[in-house]
Amino acid sequence: MMSSNRKGEASGVHRNPGARNAVLMGLRSIWHTLLDTIFPPKCLVCQRLYQPASVSAGNNHLAHTVTKSRDLLPLAHRSLSAICCQECVQALTAISEPLCSCCGMMFKQLQKDNHLCGDCIMRPKSFRMARATMVYDQQSMAAIHRFKYAGKTQLAKPFGGLLLNTYLRYWQHDAIDMILPVPLHSQKFRYRGFNQAYLMIDRWQTISAPNPLTAPHTRLRTDVLTRRKATVSQTGLDRQRRLNNVKGAFRVRLPKTVRERKILVVDDVYTTGATVDECARSLLEAGAAQVDVLTLARAI
Ligand SMILES: [Zn+2]
Ligand SMILES: [Zn+2]
Repeated sequence: MMSSNRKGEASGVHRNPGARNAVLMGLRSIWHTLLDTIFPPKCLVCQRLYQPASVSAGNNHLAHTVTKSRDLLPLAHRSLSAICCQECVQALTAISEPLCSCCGMMFKQLQKDNHLCGDCIMRPKSFRMARATMVYDQQSMAAIHRFKYAGKTQLAKPFGGLLLNTYLRYWQHDAIDMILPVPLHSQKFRYRGFNQAYLMIDRWQTISAPNPLTAPHTRLRTDVLTRRKATVSQTGLDRQRRLNNVKGAFRVRLPKTVRERKILVVDDVYTTGATVDECARSLLEAGAAQVDVLTLARAI
């Protein structure tokens, strides 16, 4: 082993660490292609065996695309194709403008600018602005359910990357003081073992893109907002029942920390917005200056 290293050094072939890394990466890529051919991986979403497309960049190289691209698909492809088949990735639909300037609902007419939707005019929201990455449809629901309910936490990093892309698009130049994942009730947390929103934000640290959590004034907190009511699942409830279900569900444990602060609440899915709006209401009541909402998916 020693002698082969010395030989390499003597010949100058591997003296450059960059060249050595390139050779190692090349060998690794050939090895993985070979393994994928013999043992094709199983798609984490549809659970079928698939041949991964050759993707040169992994999650660690999301940086430039995250800040420049508004197109979900290339980003989703890069971040998900190592663990999901092409069919599952390509079936995801990005949220695109024009949107409701408040709740982020997608409008069908493509020509107009963002403006308030009828629902936000009739029933003003507590939060200032909600934005989401992708449409909550059958496909994204399948993927999110595999993450949340089947414990496929490998999805946290690619989902986190997509979420970060949306964050950078809408809040990169805003001074967000605090990022709060929507809390689970302690019973649900114990049962599931993780908070899906927290896990996605936590993965921002492993992606080499501008990370809001490294800004001196921005804090990720899980001890500020708690869920005091073990609400039943919102799935299948109509609007009024959803509102009643989450009313008073949250408590701001540390009101001093939110006073005069600009807060971003993060969740996996926005359906009617009842949950995040109740979070916003509680935070504003405790003295927050402003509450925004970021979710991975949104019903349209
Ligand atoms: Zn699939
Ligand atoms: Zn709206």
